[in-house]
Amino acid sequence: MIKDKFNRTYSYLRVSLTHRCNFSCNYCNKINNPIKELNTPQLIDIIEKLIKLCHIEKVRLTGGEPLLREDIDYIIYRINRNVDNIGITTNGYFLKEKIFSLYKSGLKRINISLDSLNRNRFKKITNTDHFNRVIDSIMLALSYGLKVKINSVLVKGLDHKEIDEFIRFSQLYGITIRFIELMPFSNEYASKMFLPSSYVIDYIEKKYNIDKKYNEGVAKIFEIQNAKIGFITSVSTPFCSSCNRLRLTSDGKLYRCLFDKNYLDLSKSTDNFNELIKNYLYLKKEKHNIDYNSKVSNSIRVIGG
Ligand code: SAM
Repeated sequence: MIKDKFNRTYSYLRVSLTHRCNFSCNYCNKINNPIKELNTPQLIDIIEKLIKLCHIEKVRLTGGEPLLREDIDYIIYRINRNVDNIGITTNGYFLKEKIFSLYKSGLKRINISLDSLNRNRFKKITNTDHFNRVIDSIMLALSYGLKVKINSVLVKGLDHKEIDEFIRFSQLYGITIRFIELMPFSNEYASKMFLPSSYVIDYIEKKYNIDKKYNEGVAKIFEIQNAKIGFITSVSTPFCSSCNRLRLTSDGKLYRCLFDKNYLDLSKSTDNFNELIKNYLYLKKEKHNIDYNSKVSNSIRVIGG
């Protein structure tokens, strides 16, 4: 088991399968120089070495849009040989075409991004008019028995009526909604549009009886009459002290943190793979020290959200 200076272990691997995306969300920074993705055998080789070395128990495939990676089903099948707990994070657009092969390859968990339940607001945030298609994908994933969660980035413009609708949506379909605080990857937008989770929490605590509150992974969950509403507050209340995440990019770079400037390039084969990783992880900082006015140079599409 590998530990860093602060005794943290790394059992959760997040892989960005591609930086490419078919949506153009306001909060996601654009990429000027496309990166050269590793081919699938190269990527799988690195993933399998990391799984073995770090005793990885959970893998999430993300991006960019991971369903744009043609062979995502084969990648899931290979990871599934060693790790049961495997999920993807997707905008849902391509699910209709892909769901059968994803399901057959062993996928059990899917997080689908849905920033608004209002079609016009969805369009304004994502710059696409695919609201109906995303809702259909959520229903399709449920019909396959997948464990579905919704990711919804908190941005100004979310009103009380829509919060009520999200709660009803969660009750009706048994889906956890996770509100994610805006991170400063697209600087001006983040500082202008940041909406703290306290805006939603204050409202639901006043209006509803909260049955239970607890932490589930990095999310703080509020249960309200069979609705599960979560909050991920990476910037306002970071969870660095318990962070167990490693991040691998599609060009083979390993990051210890979404906001870390230093990475380890694993794209070239090396004899001292294990030593390099041990040393790199050992030196991870205690905290990321980012706030929502910070200038983050990394791209969330490249590192994977
Ligand atoms: N394309 C996929 C999707 O839309 O879910 C996966 C990649 S996306 C980068 C992963 C998650 O990160 C999404 O739920 C997205 O909403 C979230 N995300 C992207 N940029 C963000 C930001 N600046 N702050 C907070 N969350 C962000």
